[in-house]
Amino acid sequence: MQINIPFDNSFVRLPDKFYARLDPTPVSNPGLIVLNDALANQLGLDAAQLRTPDGIAMLAGNEVASGSQPLAMAYAGQQFGNWSPQLGDGRALLLGEVLSPDGTRFDIQLKGSGPTPFSRMGDGRAWLGPVLREYIVSEAMAALGIKTTRALAAVTTGDAIFREELLPGAILARVARAHIRVGSFQYFAIRKDEEGLKQLADYTIDRLYPQCREQDQPYAAFFESVVEAQIDLVSRWMGVGFIHGVMNTDNVSIAGETIDYGPCAFMDDFHPQRVFSSIDEMGRYAYENQPPIAHWNLVQFAQALLPLLGDTQEAAVAVAQAIVDSFQARYEAAFMNVFGGKIGIPDDQVSNEDKSLINDLLKAMADQGADFTNTFRTLSEAEPEPIVSALGNTEMAGQWFTRWQKRVGKLHETAHARETFMKSKNPAFVPRNHRVEQVIRAAREGDYAPFEELNAVLANPFIDQPGRAAYRDPPSVNEQVRHTFCGT
Ligand code: AMP
Ligand code: MG
Repeated sequence: MQINIPFDNSFVRLPDKFYARLDPTPVSNPGLIVLNDALANQLGLDAAQLRTPDGIAMLAGNEVASGSQPLAMAYAGQQFGNWSPQLGDGRALLLGEVLSPDGTRFDIQLKGSGPTPFSRMGDGRAWLGPVLREYIVSEAMAALGIKTTRALAAVTTGDAIFREELLPGAILARVARAHIRVGSFQYFAIRKDEEGLKQLADYTIDRLYPQCREQDQPYAAFFESVVEAQIDLVSRWMGVGFIHGVMNTDNVSIAGETIDYGPCAFMDDFHPQRVFSSIDEMGRYAYENQPPIAHWNLVQFAQALLPLLGDTQEAAVAVAQAIVDSFQARYEAAFMNVFGGKIGIPDDQVSNEDKSLINDLLKAMADQGADFTNTFRTLSEAEPEPIVSALGNTEMAGQWFTRWQKRVGKLHETAHARETFMKSKNPAFVPRNHRVEQVIRAAREGDYAPFEELNAVLANPFIDQPGRAAYRDPPSVNEQVRHTFCGT
């Protein structure tokens, strides 16, 4: 029986040059690892149907559901600053789009579904490790309230794939508001295809930023909306100690979602220059470089959009420049909201004078290598001893705590209200790298219980889960994972 998903595909109605149409490549022996029932329901999909052999066949790319029009999207991008004029979905296919019950349009994509015309030297596949990693981390991100692509399902393929060794193959079914990237625009810009550029901008505005249509300059308003969305996103990453790891322009979502979880990680001990990705030798995408890199990526986006931003080059540059130049102040404000909230200061109360309070804390944390997540969660409880101890038991740490108490004490009706507020901003649980690695190791042995348990913990990151306190622990010395790999 063919699976019936009410696809409503719009991207495929764009001209041929936007994509390559092809079906997924079948695999030997599909097996369901996990289906995200809550997400299926949210999308208006029948979870029970997706669990049937036909549903699993579809999730593995062995069957094409009726209404699905699979395609690989074309895009370009700057990777570690260097141009790749043609990237595109080299191992992913957009199966189609669905409208959720509230009318929101979502892409359903398979990642690891076989080679495409954009595969270059790659095999079009993914192995189990990165599929589980993306499943765990993207769902954790959603539970943290940070915009992200979602994970609908993961399947094993029954095929071995070769990385540095033979590894079990897997496929992720991914959901996004759209898979349009800065690199999607760059693809047309670098080809000087202004018609294609305009079609893509119009499509994206209608789909993601329809309010821009009513503005005097819809394309400038569109650019500004994307800038806002990136600032919001990156400031929130900073607030949970997240390091994306590959902020190339092809991995910057125009929808403002976190996308393409590769060598990403949540920091344990805080260091602003922390890098995990084994290929990021220069630390281009280090924790504290993420805001300036977001700015750089948006400048690249502005450059791609220039033909749409004014009648003359000069006019267009002026429009783009004004918005680009506003980045710093906007980011500062977003940063203050996020970190103000983390130390107990509500949005509408946070002021520039709080900056030194925040920065002094971060500096003390960095000096001590304090655990990022636990320090803020502990601060929520406002006991001086554990905080002063996390900050190295220095006189300065004690002084900082007193200053903080003075500032925050008056902002909430009761101590309980303050704690509740802060605990809604400071998660107890994040997907720590060593946990993710443990899960992957167990899964390779056929044991998915740790995967399920970790997902269950991370589904409620802001709630103390006393029976699961061990998931709050930083790694022991021999559990530490200092590098994550791009060999995905
Ligand atoms: P990523 O680093 O996952 O964002 O991928 C960067 C580019 O490489 C994208 O165009 C991917 O589609 C492509 N790519 C990554 N891995 C593979 C693979 N195994 N086979 C084919 N293309 C790949
Ligand atoms: Mg990518």
